[in-house]
This record gives sequence, C-alpha cells and structure tokens, in this order.
Amino acid sequence: MLLCLCSTTFFSVVFLLNLSSPVNGWGGDGHSLVASIAQTLLNERSLTFVRNHLPWYTSGNISMLASWPDYIIYPDTNPVDYLNWQWSKQLHFADTKDWACVYDREKDCNWTSTSGQQCVDGSIQNYTTRLANSQLDDIQRQEALKFLVHFIGDAHQPLHAGFHGDRGGNSIRGKFFGKETNLHSLWDTVMIERRITQDFHGQPSLYLQYLLTQMKTHYAQNISDWTNCSTSDESRYLACSELWIVEDAKLNCDLVYRDENNQPMSVSKEFTLGQTYYNTRMIIVEQRLIQGGVRLAAVINKITESTTDIDKSNKTNFASMSIVMILFVHSILILILLGYTFLRRKRTVVTQAPVFRDKNEYLTIA
Ligand SMILES: [Zn+2]
Repeated sequence: MLLCLCSTTFFSVVFLLNLSSPVNGWGGDGHSLVASIAQTLLNERSLTFVRNHLPWYTSGNISMLASWPDYIIYPDTNPVDYLNWQWSKQLHFADTKDWACVYDREKDCNWTSTSGQQCVDGSIQNYTTRLANSQLDDIQRQEALKFLVHFIGDAHQPLHAGFHGDRGGNSIRGKFFGKETNLHSLWDTVMIERRITQDFHGQPSLYLQYLLTQMKTHYAQNISDWTNCSTSDESRYLACSELWIVEDAKLNCDLVYRDENNQPMSVSKEFTLGQTYYNTRMIIVEQRLIQGGVRLAAVINKITESTTDIDKSNKTNFASMSIVMILFVHSILILILLGYTFLRRKRTVVTQAPVFRDKNEYLTIA
C-alpha cells in the first residue's frame, strides 16, 4: 500500500513536470492530443463523471493522465514498482501477420482462449466494461478510465497493430531527414514533433487548436461514420476496437510500411525518408489523432449514458466538504480558545497587577 502511494505520488510529480515541457514524445503529445480532442466532445454527464473518477489535481482533464499506462511500465519513470505493471505491456498493441493487411482477432489476439484477449483490442473491451461497472470500487474504475483513454489512443497509431516480424516497426531502422530513428518511433513521436516544432512554434496547444478546427471543418462529415459500429457485430460492444485495428492493418500495407518509391520497407534494409514521406503520411497521423479523440469521447459518452452513479462523487464531495467543515470548526474553536486564554491572562495581569513593596508581599499574592 505504501509502495502504491509512493508510486502514485512519484507519477504525479513526473507527470506534472512533463506537462511543462513544450514538446514530449508520443506519450506527451500524441496521447495528450487524442485525449484533449475527446475532452471537447464530452457531454455534461461525462464531464461530471470524469471529474469524479480522476484524481483531484487533474480537475477532470483526461489528457493529464493519458500517458499513465506508459509511465508505469518503465524503471526510469516508475522505479518503485514498474515490475508490478509488466503484465500490462502487451495490452498496448495487437501485432498482425507480416503483410497480411488484415487484423484477425482470433489469431492476433487469441480471442477465444480463456487466457487470451491480451492485446489492445481486448484491453479496450475489458476496460470499457469495467468502467461501465458501478459495482467496482473507485480505484478500479479510475484505473479503467486511465487505461481506456490511453489504449484508444494506441489503437489509432497504425504501428500498434504493426507486423510481428519487425515488432510493430521497432526493428526497421533508417534515417528521417538525415536523423537515425526506427519506423515505430517515426510514427509515435518524430513526425508529430517535427510538425509541432516547424508549424506551431513548438506549442502542442496551438497544434491542438488546429486539429480541432480540422475536425469541425474538413472532417465534419465523417464524424458519424467514425463513431458507428453498426456495419458489423461490433455494435454489441461499447467500443468498435476491432474495426479500428482493421483500419490500422490496411494503412500499414498501403502507406506506413512503404517508402517514398512505394517499395515495402523491411528489417533487412535501412530506410531513407524525407519530405515526400512526411507530407503524405502526416495527413494520416492527423486524421488518426482526430479519429481517436472523436471515438474516445463517443465511448465515454456512451458509458455515462447508462451509468447510474454519475453523482457518486456527491458522496466524495460531501466527505470532502465534511472534512473541510470539521477543520474549519476546529480552527474557529482553537481561535476562540486562544483569544479567551489571551484575554484571561491580560485581565489577570490588569486586575492582579500589584504594587510590590517587598518580596514577602509578592510571595503572599502568588
Ligand atoms: Zn501505449
């Protein structure tokens, strides 16, 4: 328990420090952008719900903890108990067969096995169900919300459903504008950082405003399609994560794993990419960030529609208010006591101030 508290405090500090950095990795930028887009689309019930289920210092801002599932698994960001979270590592992706160009839930996520569904698709299904379950305690639901915000972001980065053979693009190395990187990092961080640095003065908040404008103009007609699962049996779920990963698999074959000459990229050959790849792929990165945000908001709004304990935090608020009131009353009582003691001493000094004539008289008065 103590470890847990230390770890939570450590995260809060690491996370708050991270916020002050203008450009972070995918964790700080990509995930934060997806969550910030979603935040603008949450309805009143959902805003109340997230405010009540996240730690107080977030003020209900889901982007503040969007990278928590990444921080907990590494020793540099969670030295205290990163080992305890290693089980969650495989929940961040759903790699597919090389050049299959489709996602097969059965094979790629071991869907029907009792020990299966340990991938980003399964984790989204698990945490939507858990978040909707009012029988779970506050800590479990807060964890479900933090995981869900992050994993819906991951499900929209195509290389989180990359090929098995190259570990989702991690083993494919090369140069992007002359700098060493790997394909996975290129999509996680490098292209987004370049975009923010070059076109938005290194300010993610300006980039967010741009993406929100794109969402309301260029993509306005697509939003209802993006949030619709009805074309498959996915409609029975709260989130259509299978469809999102099918989209990733297609993007990987069509664009992500192809170089500027449309040739397949592989582990055996280093890539050299620049302006052409950046111009044509950055559009996809932006569309996926917006799609992720729109879908995350839709999922949370759908969950809170049927959740009966939106006002549960009234209990929390009542408890918090009670503590504040008790402290306030205590403070008043202490002030009254101090005031009374002070006046009494003063009165004693005034009424009893004797005119000492000799030592013996002083002793008799005392
Ligand atoms: Zn992740």
